[in-house]
Amino acid sequence: MKKVFVLLLVLFSIVSAQQPYVLLISFDGFRWDYLDRGITPVMKDMEQNGVRAISLRASYPTKTFPNHLSIITGMYPQNHGIITNGFTDPFSGEYYRLGDTVSVRDAKWYLGEAFWTTAKRQGVKTASYFWPGSELNTPSRSPNYREHYEHKRPYAKRVEGILNWLKKPYEERPHFITLYFDATDTYGHKYGPNSNEINTCVASLDTLLGTIRTGLADAGMKDSVNIIVVADHGMTEVSTEKVVMIDEILADMECKLEGSGPLMLINTEDGKREEIYNKLLNRKEHYRVYKKESLPEYYHFNKHPFIGDIVVVADIGWSLTTKNGFNKMKKYGSKGNHGYEKDHMDMHGIFLAEGPSFKKNYLTGTVWNIDIYPLLCKIFNIYPRNNIDGKLERIEFVLKD
Ligand code: AMP
Ligand code: ZN
Ligand code: ZN
Repeated sequence: MKKVFVLLLVLFSIVSAQQPYVLLISFDGFRWDYLDRGITPVMKDMEQNGVRAISLRASYPTKTFPNHLSIITGMYPQNHGIITNGFTDPFSGEYYRLGDTVSVRDAKWYLGEAFWTTAKRQGVKTASYFWPGSELNTPSRSPNYREHYEHKRPYAKRVEGILNWLKKPYEERPHFITLYFDATDTYGHKYGPNSNEINTCVASLDTLLGTIRTGLADAGMKDSVNIIVVADHGMTEVSTEKVVMIDEILADMECKLEGSGPLMLINTEDGKREEIYNKLLNRKEHYRVYKKESLPEYYHFNKHPFIGDIVVVADIGWSLTTKNGFNKMKKYGSKGNHGYEKDHMDMHGIFLAEGPSFKKNYLTGTVWNIDIYPLLCKIFNIYPRNNIDGKLERIEFVLKD
């Protein structure tokens, strides 16, 4: 009897020492309601086998880099530092751009701690098959394994890559892995969120998710890996009929305009801010204009020093642009965009999760993307940073009791 007890104790301690697995998949720009179009049987099955939130609320601005960083750090963009996809440090003139490998790998822009760093410090092996912020040149802030972003890397190769990581010997195997696919964003921009093309794209990503699940099953890991599927933001229809030419409104004014489309940041010369602000305020149609410090609190977008003196926020579906930008817009004929206010449903993404840590057949309301970082910490039973904006209590109920 005593021997059986000791054996049980040993078995129990082995099992409890096993770390969980999480595969965090991002389908860029996968709007929440794409799940309800009847074209995603695999995701429907995942809903039944796990958790679905009606939607995942992005952080402002609802762009790719700010939101991938919000998901992975639990912070609003004003706090993790990646305030848009491209911005300038007005003090040094240096810039950050998502397409610029030098700046995206430079740790100085990133003020938050990514989950892979939190996890690595506490003994969890991590890996990233693409994720904004995963390519820092600083080893202590990087995942144990990673791939540098390559837009055209075939999707099958990415899936093979993560499965190979999971087939590594136990000691070397990562337990937290990110995986990223751009297609719904790319097609959403090109054809719009209500097009046949986006539906075909959504259906193909659903099939891809099926391949991932099959791959995990074939590796004997179906019941041990938690899969979390998220989107960084949604997508809304835009058109060249709904544009505001900011450079025309500000003709002859000395200022720097940064960004276009859903938001524009404006840096002004000393003493000129009031005049520029008033000009924009007088012509205010289809946008709102704020002095940085007066931006309503719910944006969580006024603390970072690089935000710009004036922030112009377009109404949903409208584009802030310049003459040059407008010509480009006409040339490339974009039908969809994102970056608008986070509370507009068109800007919400998806949240699906299944696996040993999650409830089954559990539908809940909107969850917030900044809460995913503390959720991950809870799953791995590790300590989160205490300076985050995310709150475990807003999302913890999706986990099994
Ligand atoms: P956007 O629609 O402008 O917010 O950004 C979407 C684009 O971000 C995608 O089409 C990708 O090309 C790009 N992107 C996504 N992840 C990365 C990454 N890790 N490194 C560089 N570019 C990326
Ligand atoms: Zn995106
Ligand atoms: Zn996009």
